[in-house]
Amino acid sequence: MKDNTGIIMNIQNFSVNDGEGIRSTIFMAGCPLRCKWCSNPESWSFDNDYVKKLTLDDVVKEIRKNLIFYRYSHGGITYSGGEPSFQKEFLKSMVDTFFNMGIHQTIETCGYFNWDHMKDIFEKLDFAFVDIKVMNGKKHKELTGVDNKKILDNIKRLGELDIDLVIRIPLIKGINDSLDNINETASFVSENIPNGKIEILPYHSLGNYKYDKLGLSEYKNIFQTPMKNEILTVKKIIESYGIKIVDCK
Ligand code: SF4
Repeated sequence: MKDNTGIIMNIQNFSVNDGEGIRSTIFMAGCPLRCKWCSNPESWSFDNDYVKKLTLDDVVKEIRKNLIFYRYSHGGITYSGGEPSFQKEFLKSMVDTFFNMGIHQTIETCGYFNWDHMKDIFEKLDFAFVDIKVMNGKKHKELTGVDNKKILDNIKRLGELDIDLVIRIPLIKGINDSLDNINETASFVSENIPNGKIEILPYHSLGNYKYDKLGLSEYKNIFQTPMKNEILTVKKIIESYGIKIVDCK
């Protein structure tokens, strides 16, 4: 049975940063991770001022208003969050509906999901952004609350599907920008993703004000953005593995 109600933070129309063309980005609440640098901590709960309950009909009505923009810009819908797979039933309802309407669909995911629940959904998506935050499993757990084995296994499986895939690295100075981590990430991508592409997202602290508003000030992050030359070095290492660097933001 389909779940026809979801908890949504926002539907942002005319988005040009989350995939090709003009898009509507559906920010879904819920996430199994707790990244220490998270800029969307409002996604961690279904009960705060940032989230609202929407039915599938509500979402379809909103999306229909933008069909002409998707058509002429080769745009579509992007599922983001939070982590969209956290509400897998509602995600499936939307993906099935918009697939039948012929709309281009993209997902932004942390990769931490049960493959058996998501395989059918991915088969109807056109494009996926998946994060690799850090390759060392122990460090990944310290920084995000979960081990990365499930994420890396899912990325390998996605590499076997007929879906365009971009790996995103949220680059944080002193956290995951070491030569070892970047080499390990690039090596994993070149071995497991045919025609692998990587996008670097330098850390920003724009979400910090939300921690105060949510009463989570003690979690407010204090990380540093890498310098331009440091980002360039990282990109060069990645390219040396034959991986294309893309810039979708
Ligand atoms: S996966 Fe994304 S939304 Fe979830 S905690 Fe990490 S940064 Fe925040």
